[in-house]
Amino acid sequence: MPTESTSPSIEVRGLNMVYNQGKSNESKSLTDINLKIYPREYVIIFGPSGCGKSTLLYALAGFQKPTSGEVIVDGQDINQFDKKEKVEFHRRKIGMVFQSFFLIPTLKIMDNICLPKLFVGEGASEREKRGKEVLQRFGIIEHAEKFPAELSGGQKQRVAIARALMNNPDIIIADEPVGNLDSKASFNVMSILRELNEMDKKTIILVTHDPAHLSFGNKIVYMSDGKIVKTEEVIERKKAVLEGEEETTIKKEMLSPEIQMLMRSFQNFSPSQLGMLLFPFKAQEFLSHILFSVPEEQIDVARNKLQEVLSGRVTVDQFEKLLDQEEKKGGLNWDRRIVNKIIKRLKDILEISKKMDNTKPEDTALIIAKYIINILKLQFTEDQIVHLSQLARLRIENKLSIIDLKKNLDRPLSERGMGLDKRTANKIAREIEILMLAKFAM
Ligand code: ADP
Ligand code: MG
Repeated sequence: MPTESTSPSIEVRGLNMVYNQGKSNESKSLTDINLKIYPREYVIIFGPSGCGKSTLLYALAGFQKPTSGEVIVDGQDINQFDKKEKVEFHRRKIGMVFQSFFLIPTLKIMDNICLPKLFVGEGASEREKRGKEVLQRFGIIEHAEKFPAELSGGQKQRVAIARALMNNPDIIIADEPVGNLDSKASFNVMSILRELNEMDKKTIILVTHDPAHLSFGNKIVYMSDGKIVKTEEVIERKKAVLEGEEETTIKKEMLSPEIQMLMRSFQNFSPSQLGMLLFPFKAQEFLSHILFSVPEEQIDVARNKLQEVLSGRVTVDQFEKLLDQEEKKGGLNWDRRIVNKIIKRLKDILEISKKMDNTKPEDTALIIAKYIINILKLQFTEDQIVHLSQLARLRIENKLSIIDLKKNLDRPLSERGMGLDKRTANKIAREIEILMLAKFAM
């Protein structure tokens, strides 16, 4: 996160962009844009089509000279660069990803991604080595010898990201990178960008008109009609949620503020959109749910791997190996009994979430109720099972908030509640939330 002492890696000052200036068809695309982007930020530029997002992005990347104003990158005005400096800047500093991929159809995937390196003037073997690394990383190594037309949209975009990373730039700029992809592929690409920000510490600047992507960023720049109308730091959003939250017990015991925030907006999203929003948080939730106290760095490693399990890039078995194997083999070498417990729990959750079916809420609710009764070893009567599954149904259909679910579980029988103690009510509510996360994440 930027601090007072960090200087911005990109600063835009008083930027204006006018097309066809002085002509009858003159149009102002950007008006007095001022913006600071700090190292390692994930900035999302959000706004309706035609509001000037792409124009701003290309001005930031130095592809389009502004009518007036400055773009300062690492202290240098990029529009004052001579030709050579500009070329160098594009090669080394910024990686670009576009909605329509821009792969060269007549080149194989490996050659496509080696192109930027070619221009930098490295030897062929170096290039191939780096190429293999990035393809491997994004799960597309087996397509190295294919042509772009043989790949799906999601695979092509992963190739394009791999290409953007070849020269290891600090900044990745992406213009509607998932605009042409289905929800599963979008999810995958958005996750990769998130990972590049979190793990590789890249500065990401992403343009989107889709509100479902907003939670990926830590700074949201809202644009309308060529102007920045609002800038939102996500730290502030989190704080606002915490301050507005009266039920402190829920805040601590139940869910992270991020998830609370997302759950609150639940109705507005389709399950696949929600899954995409929840993705970065759910791995953490899962892990803290099934884990005891382990050093923080190890949790980070495990969480990242778990994230890949949940996105389908890594199998449960591979995850188990990571936890179980000796450190010299790259594992975490956790106690076998703990690993067994974690893996069993993870498999249970994944299995139940697979059985959950939006079109059959009644059956799904009953499956959930039985699972929870089993996992928490509750002694329930037939009536209680029915009651619990009714509440579960209301929750999964989002007719009941998490707070109201807990109240219903806790409230005395005489007031038509389930009359459970607070602890059990909390545990049950938490199990339901985890299953919902798992379900919507898939
Ligand atoms: P967005 O990416 O938000 O959809 P753009 O940055 O592509 O918006 O476009 C912003 C505005 O600038 C639009 O009104 C568009 O018509 C106009 N515009 C973009 N490129 C040009 C151009 N080369 N010539 C004239 N007008 C343009
Ligand atoms: Mg655009």
